[in-house]
Amino acid sequence: MPVYPPEPWRIKMVEPLRTTTRDDREEALREAGWNPCLLRSEDVYVDLFTDSGTNAMSDRQWSALMRGDEAYAGARSFYVFEEAVRAFYGYEHVIPVHQGRGGENILSRCLIRPGTHVPGNMYFPSTRAHQELNGATFHDVIVDEAHDAESEHPFKGDVDLGKLRAVIAEFGADAIPYVSLAATVNMAGGQPISVANVAETCALAHAHGIPVFLDTARAVENAWLVKQREPGWARASVAEILLALCAPTDGAVMSAKKDSLANIGGWIALRDPVLAEQARGLVLVYEGLHTYGGMTGRDMEAIAVGIAESVEEDHIRARVAQVEYLGERLDRAGVPITRPIGGHCVCIDAAAALPHVPRTDFPAQTVACAIYLEAGVRGVERGAVTAGRDPVTGVNRLPKLELLRLAIPRRVYTRAHMDLVADTVIAVHRDRDRIACGLTFAYEPRHLRFFQARFKPVSGASIFDTR
Ligand SMILES: *Cc1c(COP(=O)(O)O)cnc(C)c1O
Repeated sequence: MPVYPPEPWRIKMVEPLRTTTRDDREEALREAGWNPCLLRSEDVYVDLFTDSGTNAMSDRQWSALMRGDEAYAGARSFYVFEEAVRAFYGYEHVIPVHQGRGGENILSRCLIRPGTHVPGNMYFPSTRAHQELNGATFHDVIVDEAHDAESEHPFKGDVDLGKLRAVIAEFGADAIPYVSLAATVNMAGGQPISVANVAETCALAHAHGIPVFLDTARAVENAWLVKQREPGWARASVAEILLALCAPTDGAVMSAKKDSLANIGGWIALRDPVLAEQARGLVLVYEGLHTYGGMTGRDMEAIAVGIAESVEEDHIRARVAQVEYLGERLDRAGVPITRPIGGHCVCIDAAAALPHVPRTDFPAQTVACAIYLEAGVRGVERGAVTAGRDPVTGVNRLPKLELLRLAIPRRVYTRAHMDLVADTVIAVHRDRDRIACGLTFAYEPRHLRFFQARFKPVSGASIFDTR
């Protein structure tokens, strides 16, 4: 059995879960149009749809809620929040937003002009959507290994500097408003970027006068993986590594629903006072006053405590070890997963698991349905459905990776839950030949289609039908 360090917390309050029968789940999934995104959470037993906003807050965070100052302007809670972001991430200007995509909207509107180009280490759905809505074209400049589920490269989140140079040479620095970096890279399976690569990327971009913005949603998890994997960092604290990751960048956009152990919230942080003033102006239009940005005072208090807890080594060690435990169990049972195991999720290589389901029939969406039917476990497709269509040509994008992502909420589930998930996925994989067909769209929304799409089995009434 892989290692499972004991959780550095005990349970003070519980939320009862409802168990369902296979018949219940078949009915629920049919009503949800074969899209687990559209299930009611009551019909799900272990919910690994996302680690976003699904965290369990600590007793200290719950107490902090009571200190929330709900003043419209200049709330004390804002200054507590601002100080926490400054201290742990090292940026001067802190602007609150309601969640990460609020920050993406503002930053994209400030910097992107139609016809420009944004390079980045693989796309994130909401980030790219905002870049494209503002008229930019995204260019993936991540290392090739990121697109290879089997590669053991320790830093699959790294930028390929050659690819970045090529984008700058092709379009010219003036047509590149910024470089969009992420730590860790979600779409590659929670893969980290090295401190050295962030520094090199920034040096290259800055030499051309191009700023670099970091998506810090999971930068603490990235810092933990740096400590484990990058030469020279083993003795540094996670808090020190977090500062080192942010130091060379020009700013960050944060979804506090991830690392910061909160249920909502986010921020933009910048070094340039002029850009910060421009961003504050847009926050007023789209989010709320620049001292709350769509959050309540109590949200900002809970995030401030969550930031400090997120870099505590007992916490982050147990958090990532739980993910690794699940991944190791699947790997040892022969289920094809993305290697190395990432910081927040385990990704099943659905194209490898279901070679008999054509890529155009969405194997990862099909596996998501199969594991839900088996035991009420919900994951999310991260493959062709999520990739969507090219905004110019309208052609379906077919990414190299066709993954089913199992994202683990922080401090929510126990080892027994992880074992149930492992047993479920192993059983579905063992019986994969019983899956007779994939899925096709019954309804396809225009933007971020994976959330609201409805599907139907390609033939028959179920993916298990052999007719
Ligand atoms: C969740 C997330 C976002 C968007 O943040 P929301 O809070 O969901 O709006 C952006 N980037 C990354 C890497 C994320 O994980």
